[in-house]
Amino acid sequence: MIMAYTPAEDRYKKMQYRRSGKSGLQLPAISLGLWQNFGEADDMNVYRQTLRTAFDNGITHFDLANNYGPPGGSAEINFGKIFHEDFTAYRDELIISTKAGYYMWPGPYGEWGSKKYLVSSLDQSLKRMGLEYVDIFYHHRPDPNTPLEESMAALDLIVRQGKALYVGISNYPADKAAEAIKILKQLGTPCLIHQPRYSMLDRWVEKKDTSAKKNLLEVLDANGVGCIVFSPLAQGLLTDKYLKGIPADSRVGRKLPNGALTENGLDTTVLKKVTALNELALQRNQTMAQMAIAWLLKDKRITSVLVGASSSKQLLNSIASLGDISFSAEELKKIEKILK
Ligand code: NDP
Repeated sequence: MIMAYTPAEDRYKKMQYRRSGKSGLQLPAISLGLWQNFGEADDMNVYRQTLRTAFDNGITHFDLANNYGPPGGSAEINFGKIFHEDFTAYRDELIISTKAGYYMWPGPYGEWGSKKYLVSSLDQSLKRMGLEYVDIFYHHRPDPNTPLEESMAALDLIVRQGKALYVGISNYPADKAAEAIKILKQLGTPCLIHQPRYSMLDRWVEKKDTSAKKNLLEVLDANGVGCIVFSPLAQGLLTDKYLKGIPADSRVGRKLPNGALTENGLDTTVLKKVTALNELALQRNQTMAQMAIAWLLKDKRITSVLVGASSSKQLLNSIASLGDISFSAEELKKIEKILK
């Protein structure tokens, strides 16, 4: 028997909210992603509890994509099931996103960025989740072979059809992002947000793009577009869990498919850096994970940090990073030295 769910009354006191660029939409400083841990092989009791813990702590944003699972589609199905059991009364308090861009079905219309693919994929996602609309729909990755005008026109169409309230782009380099933002503006459907990978161990968003003459964060800031960053813990590498071997129940230990962290990602140079960072985190009275999240949130241009979690306990640990997101100049210098 599943106990009926009543969310914590004080949930909005526990979270900080940040405006996405110059839009009207505020997002929680920490959002929950369902890429891993919500698939067919995962434990429904665990992910139900993780979703409840998230909302009880003011996490109003759940991030999905057509291909999340594994297998692809199963995270949306599982989320839909729990949404209908626990969250329907709270639909207007939730920001649910999905994406399309990666491989989803065979043939020429099952991936990338054609209007045919993007529109069909969102229809499928809505069906899997049992939703009438999503709050944010993303183009998941740039398509080198489809005109950007076509992919952006598809996003504009989807909003006009009422299937998404806002649109975003993900994994677009700075120059392509600037172009996409411009096209969307001309179409009258502004780009709400960009979703790039960003962590202490992957700082491409800070690197100047020669053709855009700015880095991605500067492009987004100049255009009033928000930024929600994924894999802030480098899939668990920026925690203390791999410092003494590979736990069997970890992402690496479980040998997951589709781009999940593997043993190859745990080389000695990286582990040495994480060991030094972990010491610094402990001096700040934080866990390694908390310091990694705080380090991203110190930048006001970051609208939200999109974490994954394989348990409620982990999620609570990550949320507690909000207790201290400031760094002294000396701490920042030490971090730069370690990361060099
Ligand atoms: P993270 O970097 O946050 O990694 C999450 C993993 O780290 C967890 O599964 C868990 O690993 C471990 N972990 C989390 N919190 C803690 C903690 N407090 N202490 C110790 N370990 C912890 O993010 P993800 O890589 O999972 O990505 C987050 C979300 O970003 C995705 O769910 C998705 O929504 C989005 N994303 C978007 C992409 C895109 O192309 N747009 C690509 C990838 C992700 P373990 O399982 O080992 O316990």
